[in-house]
Amino acid sequence: MPLGKVDERTRMSSPPVVILGAGLTGMSAGYHLQHGYEIHERLPYPGGLAVTIEEKGYRFDRTGHLLHLNDPSIRRWIESMLGDELIKAERRSRVFSHGVYTRYPYQANTFGLPPEVAYECLVGFIKTRESGASTERPNDFEQYCLKYFGAGFSSHFMIPYNRKLWGVHPREITAEWCERFVPRPELEDVIAGAVGLKRAELGYNAEFLYPARGIGMLASALKERLRVPIRFRSAPKAVDWRRRKLIFEDREQSYEVLISTVPLNTLIAILEHPPDPVRRAGLLLRCNPLYYLDVALDVSCGVDSHWVYVPEERYPFYRVGCYTNFSDKMAPPGKSSLYIELASREPVSESRLMPGIAEGLMEMKIIKRPDDIAFARTRRINHAYVLFDHNCYKALEQLRPFLEDNRIISSGRYGGWNYSSMEDALIAGRNAAGKAMELQR
Ligand SMILES: Cc1cc2nc3c(=O)[nH]c(=O)nc-3n(C[C@H](O)[C@H](O)[C@H](O)COP(=O)(O)OP(=O)(O)OC[C@H]3O[C@@H](n4cnc5c(N)ncnc54)[C@H](O)[C@@H]3O)c2cc1C
Repeated sequence: MPLGKVDERTRMSSPPVVILGAGLTGMSAGYHLQHGYEIHERLPYPGGLAVTIEEKGYRFDRTGHLLHLNDPSIRRWIESMLGDELIKAERRSRVFSHGVYTRYPYQANTFGLPPEVAYECLVGFIKTRESGASTERPNDFEQYCLKYFGAGFSSHFMIPYNRKLWGVHPREITAEWCERFVPRPELEDVIAGAVGLKRAELGYNAEFLYPARGIGMLASALKERLRVPIRFRSAPKAVDWRRRKLIFEDREQSYEVLISTVPLNTLIAILEHPPDPVRRAGLLLRCNPLYYLDVALDVSCGVDSHWVYVPEERYPFYRVGCYTNFSDKMAPPGKSSLYIELASREPVSESRLMPGIAEGLMEMKIIKRPDDIAFARTRRINHAYVLFDHNCYKALEQLRPFLEDNRIISSGRYGGWNYSSMEDALIAGRNAAGKAMELQR
């Protein structure tokens, strides 16, 4: 319906913009709109994935959430909200494999690995460069690894690590997503890393900011700055996109523009009678859950790394991070809090899992004995990693114009169906607010 024809009573009783989700994207959209909107959040608290919980003086985020900021205006905004609470750190991340720690990224740091492993990696890397690096784009992530890193790096790190991270074999994933996130070293970097020369850190996250009492501080600060209160425990059961109405259990709510940060496949599933191609495209979208552990230690963490990548299949986890190495306020004095991201995409039995976890942590010298673990909790993130499989982009091409034509701005990491950061979420929210204002003109 053109804007001019919006029923006057509806216009007066409903704000023009409705936002679904009070994660960073949704709250950033609200912040930038200032007024004329309503924001609904399914859960009883704000922040989405950017939250911190506390138990017995230990603090846990939903695994490591570090701020890697490139946009000066976002940096200024975050600094203005968190001030002295922001800790600035230089990344200390390591890879643990073959029983030793090496620096990250693996592909530029073979020094310290068993000589035969380092040899395989270097020879593979040189051979792939010598083979004349065809200009053809790799079809999938496995081909991407073989083409840019060679067989050794691929088999010792890239393939096993990414299989654990994504929960599917890298050949199921397209190569497009990784250009930004997987650092491609130059020959000089690989050689320097093989002989142990320390060079500048590679990759997008060489330095980060972190709020002293966990990432949830950012969400709380943002919530405090919203002019419109969030409606918690509020989620529509359907979206009547033709009449521009949200259907809640007990009422209907009109909108002129809908900003949705709900996972895109969920949004499509609650559209009332969508066109068939749209419904089918929604069903093609895949996103993996993630199981991870909050682990409280009675002792300090045995290593000083911020986080450690663990590619080998014999360990049931692929990354271990230590919150207290980000900030000592994340646990009581002399103790520490960890996150352990699990390779399994199926529900896990804690009692069966913990002996293997404790053993792995001892091998990694993070703890000395199983009793160092005070408690552990299993957590699940329902939507964690959007799978950029071979259907994904086709489906998005179908969905995006449909939503746009119907004044639905689907935004954020899961609304926009992408692999993106908290900074991206804040920017996406700002952009969504701008677009919503434009649509109302
Ligand atoms: C394991 C992991 C580690 C990460 N580490 C980092 C990191 O180190 N640094 C970094 O910058 N980024 C990191 N990220 C990415 C970061 O978490 C996201 O980019 C960002 O939090 C996304 O915010 P969002 O608002 O788009 O989505 P979300 O945080 O998912 O927020 C969406 C909100 O919508 C709500 N919602 C869902 N359905 C409904 C409904 N039907 N109605 C109303 N509300 C609904 C949800 O409850 C949620 O609050 C990580 C992500 C993961 C999964």
